[in-house]
Amino acid sequence: MSEETYTGGCLCGAVKYQLSGTDKTIHGITACHCGQCRRWSGHHWASLIGPKSGFSITKGENNVRWHQSSHKAKRGFCQTCGSSLFWHGFGYRSLKDQIDVSAGSLDDSKGRALVRHIFCENKGAYYRIKDGVPVYDRFPESEMLIKRDDLTGPEIQALLRDHLADAFANSPPDSVFALDLSALQKPDISFWSVWGDDVLLGCGALKELDKTHGEIKSMRTTSAALRRGVGSTMLAHIIEQAQARGYKRLSLETGNNQPYAAARALYEKFGFEYCAPFADYEEGTFNLFMKLNL
Ligand SMILES: [Zn+2]
Ligand SMILES: [Zn+2]
Repeated sequence: MSEETYTGGCLCGAVKYQLSGTDKTIHGITACHCGQCRRWSGHHWASLIGPKSGFSITKGENNVRWHQSSHKAKRGFCQTCGSSLFWHGFGYRSLKDQIDVSAGSLDDSKGRALVRHIFCENKGAYYRIKDGVPVYDRFPESEMLIKRDDLTGPEIQALLRDHLADAFANSPPDSVFALDLSALQKPDISFWSVWGDDVLLGCGALKELDKTHGEIKSMRTTSAALRRGVGSTMLAHIIEQAQARGYKRLSLETGNNQPYAAARALYEKFGFEYCAPFADYEEGTFNLFMKLNL
C-alpha cells in the first residue's frame, strides 16, 4: 500500500494544507449537492476525502476560520479570501476520523476523478447531473461502517428485540434459535453492527463452534434500511473474518418458510449450500441449514 500525499491551498495563498493516506484511506472525489454545500461553495461542493490523521495545515492555520454548520459538522475557510477548504463531520461516528478537502483547492488531483454525486435529492433546480458518474439521493451504501458492538446501545438492543419477536412470530417456539442479548454477550461470539450516517442499519454475529468452524447468527437489517445491501455488507464482513481466523467452514440455521426467503436468497448468492443439521441442532419442521466451505 503506497502512501499518497496531496497539497492544496486557498485563493489568496494565506492557507496551505497537506493530506496523506493510502489507497484504502483516500477516497476519490465526491460532489455533494446538499443545501449547505451549495450555499457554502456557490454551487455543489466537490471534495477529496482522506484520513484526519494524515491531514495538516502547513501554512496560515491562524487564517482558517471554522463555521459549525450543524451540531455534527464544521467547515473551514480562509478568512481573507473566503475559499471553502475543509469539511469535518466530527459528530458522525462513521466520519469523524476523516476530513474532506475541497477538490478545487488541490494543487494536483493526481488523476483522481469524480466518483459520485451525493445528496442529489437536494440539488439545485438550475442544473442537471449528466456526467454518467453514480448519483445518490442521500448517502451511498459504500459509506456503511461496520463496528464491533458491545450490545449496550439502545438502538442495537431495540433491533435485537425486534429480531427475537419476529423469530417467535414466524416459527413455533421450539424452532426459534435466535439468541437474546445475554446469549450474545458470550466470549465465543463476535457481534457487529452496521451504521450509515450515524444511523443503525443492521447487525450480524459470528459464533466460534471450534477452531475451524463458525456459525453465523443474528443477521438483521432495520426495516428502514431494507434492500440497500446491508445484509450483503454484513455477510461479506463475517466471511472475511471467518477466513482471517482460519475457519474451514461457516454454517447457519434459518427458517424454511416465506419470511426467510430473502435471507436464504442472500446466502445462496454468497455460495452457501443446504446441508444437514450441524453442532447441536436437530432437523425441525421450520428450519433448515446452510454451509459455506472456506
Ligand atoms: Zn485565502
Ligand atoms: Zn453537502
